[in-house]
Amino acid sequence: MRIEPGSSWDAPQQFVMALNGHLPFIPRFVEQKRVPAPAPLNFWLRPKDEDLDRQVCASYVSRLRDLADQWIETGRGEADGESPNERKLPFELHEVLNGWASRNRPDMDLDQFGNTVVWMPACKKDFSSVLDAALEDAIRFFARFLDSPLRYQLCKCRSCGEYYCTRRIPRGFIKYGTYCEKHRHIASAKRANERMRVPERHRKLELAKRAWAKLPKRIKDEGAQALWVAEQVNKDLKYDETLIKRHWVTRYKNEIQGGIPSL
Ligand SMILES: [Zn+2]
Repeated sequence: MRIEPGSSWDAPQQFVMALNGHLPFIPRFVEQKRVPAPAPLNFWLRPKDEDLDRQVCASYVSRLRDLADQWIETGRGEADGESPNERKLPFELHEVLNGWASRNRPDMDLDQFGNTVVWMPACKKDFSSVLDAALEDAIRFFARFLDSPLRYQLCKCRSCGEYYCTRRIPRGFIKYGTYCEKHRHIASAKRANERMRVPERHRKLELAKRAWAKLPKRIKDEGAQALWVAEQVNKDLKYDETLIKRHWVTRYKNEIQGGIPSL
């Protein structure tokens, strides 16, 4: 049996273009009319109702984004981290897709070699209810996209919200988050920052441990102790290091008091 996707091979790439709102990749559901154009074209197609066309396109794109976002969300972990290859359909999205599948059964026929061919449902237009037709088709487009390896390569920029595809299926955990080409520097900055911060935190912990050992007995209150330690640490910091506050001492209390090897 052969499964015929019923759309062009680059449909998954078109899906990403449509997600970003590029009009040429969005199917049009509003009835079109011919408008005269210079040769050799002779005519252009224009929607009969331009306002309705704009409205339907916007709803279509927002539905596509909603579906894609639900999918992407399942791979997101704590902070900005993400594991795209662990994505799976959340319950509600699974229901939406299966609802669509039960309303749109594929066609079946036989090719000239006698093979059974199953056709994926094609885009259906219904001029009597264009918005419904568009929203239903957004599910079809998404279902078609899910049936491609790009489903794990699809990412959304954490900064500007643009959708893009990575070149390969990302393996493992993307610690600093997904960023488009234009905003990739944000992830690099986070990475560099982390590298810088660890030695600084380490030094501060060492200073705090030393200060803790010298803590005057008269200071009994925990808040006051933390404040005193913070003041001692701040006295020894270099000019470009960030001063610590009482809360910092409380957060690393175990390391400071227990002498547990610090980070
Ligand atoms: Zn971006």
